[in-house]
Amino acid sequence: MEQAKLEKVKSVIRDVPDFPSRGILFRDLTTLFKDAEALAIISDELRAMYAGKGITKVVGIEARGFVGASILAHDLKAGFVPMRKPGKLPADTIKLTYNKEYGTDTIEIHSDAITPDDIVVIHDDVLATGGTMKAAYDLVKSCNPKKIYINFIVELSALNGRRLFEDSDIDMQSVLVY
Ligand code: AMP
Repeated sequence: MEQAKLEKVKSVIRDVPDFPSRGILFRDLTTLFKDAEALAIISDELRAMYAGKGITKVVGIEARGFVGASILAHDLKAGFVPMRKPGKLPADTIKLTYNKEYGTDTIEIHSDAITPDDIVVIHDDVLATGGTMKAAYDLVKSCNPKKIYINFIVELSALNGRRLFEDSDIDMQSVLVY
């Protein structure tokens, strides 16, 4: 990304210390999404990353991932698929439960959302420890699509979430790395 654009985008990401709990520096992208110029820069970058790859579906992870995933799906003329917390999706679902630092979490997609003909991008706003995206990847993989790409707007490299995806030939890209 051009330096001026990079600086613009970074300048509108709000850092919130001790949210949602003590010791976490939360990268708040709502201040990026509300800035028309920054949102256009991010949208252009996302489109450029995946144009010409034959993407048919973009999966967004609830809830902060819905914004970028919807924009990317629209721009690529692909479909949008929500990945949600349990009990939110109305029809038949497939789900995956995964371990977190304390306890477990579950994510779901509609069982007819992804087919073996699909080429999929899974998108979330921020890569932190990577646990959420790893579960999302495993759930989408169980639908046997042709290919899966993984995308974030922001990657927090100090937390090394990338290590969870090292064993495979997964194509993971982030617009910004901190
Ligand atoms: P992860 O640890 O990668 O499973 O992160 C779980 C989710 O929490 C991601 O979808 C992010 O949206 C969010 N998240 C975790 N840590 C941060 C952070 N420091 N700043 C902003 N979002 C975060």
